[in-house]
Amino acid sequence: MLVMGVVFYLESDLPSEAKFLLEDFRLAVNNAIRAGLQARVTSRNALCKIAYRDFRERHPRMYAQHLVSAFEVAGSVLKNHRKRVRKGVTCRIPYVKRLMMKAENQAYKLDRKSGVIDLPIKAGCHVELRFTVSQYHRKYLDDMSLSLGSLTVLPDRVIVAFRKDAPKPYTPDSVISLDTNERSLDGVFVEGDVAKAVKAEFPDIAIIQQRHHDRRKRLQKKKAHDRRTSRNLCRREGTREHRRVDYRLHQVANSVLKFAEERRSVIVLEDLKGFKSKRSKELNRRLSMWPRRKLHQIIEYKAQWRGIPVVKVDPRNSSRTCPMCGRIQYSRMGAEFVCNCGWRLNRHINASINLLQTAISRGMAGGLWFNPGAFQHDVMMILYEPAMAARSEPNGTSGIVGVT
Ligand SMILES: [Zn+2]
Repeated sequence: MLVMGVVFYLESDLPSEAKFLLEDFRLAVNNAIRAGLQARVTSRNALCKIAYRDFRERHPRMYAQHLVSAFEVAGSVLKNHRKRVRKGVTCRIPYVKRLMMKAENQAYKLDRKSGVIDLPIKAGCHVELRFTVSQYHRKYLDDMSLSLGSLTVLPDRVIVAFRKDAPKPYTPDSVISLDTNERSLDGVFVEGDVAKAVKAEFPDIAIIQQRHHDRRKRLQKKKAHDRRTSRNLCRREGTREHRRVDYRLHQVANSVLKFAEERRSVIVLEDLKGFKSKRSKELNRRLSMWPRRKLHQIIEYKAQWRGIPVVKVDPRNSSRTCPMCGRIQYSRMGAEFVCNCGWRLNRHINASINLLQTAISRGMAGGLWFNPGAFQHDVMMILYEPAMAARSEPNGTSGIVGVT
């Protein structure tokens, strides 16, 4: 089952009854966390057993379903906590600060025509939540093959989980292989006997990261005497950076997927799992690795949702191998890969050809074939460039639903 979280922004302020509910919910979560820590349990049912009656007495009219989902949220917080403790990371006792609540799909009603949500608060009290519904939202609301999952309520917005069974990926007619770099995806698109270079450029992401990084450093220096302010300002910077980068990553992923879907391609990506960041260079690494992994995550998830096949291959030596003669070059290279056999090509595109050949040799490319000799050196197809980032729909974002 696949889940896509769709964000709806509230038309007006959250009704006060709902605000109280959020606060009650947070209280329930934090109480359950405390009870769970004491009793050393993390499952929803176990938490229910030990904390339900207590909380029921204190909030006799609260909707019982909400209580149960509070235990579920507490359970996932506890599980994360336990994981960190086991890893040996020192951490404080978990505590949910953010105002939020989660309602399971039986515990709210969404009118898919009007986009109005009916949320029960307690016995005899419901509130209606109204949202700005854009074309983007319509796509999910009108698609009746999607069922509704949980609802997450935040002070200014809600996230509705739409669910469906994973569609079976199509049999590919072509293949697009992409090498992931700090500022671009570079690759090769093969259809029949024709192979062309493709590129999706996102130089602005590295620029945004660098700018926010510098700004954070400056803030830390300036507010060195006031750690609390410094921390808050830095966190705000972090959130902003995250949003701006995320937005661009989604754009890049969307254009790659659109291209692949139209040509019924299988997408080949490098498996980034093997890369482990070293502590000493952690910051540098983080600057460059995080958005790449995130981009892959977005591409993979959206592809699964749309039934586009994606394969991931081991990138070892992909940037050093000559696809023509198979020789591995250990000397340093410039922007161009040059081999003694006469083969020369842009280093990144060369890497993507090697990824493709790995995929083919493992039988992962849907039986498609590729001959490096057929590569057209003079053609470049642009999948994405920053000029395409103009916002078309300000109200919609979608993403992977995770446990917060
Ligand atoms: Zn060669």
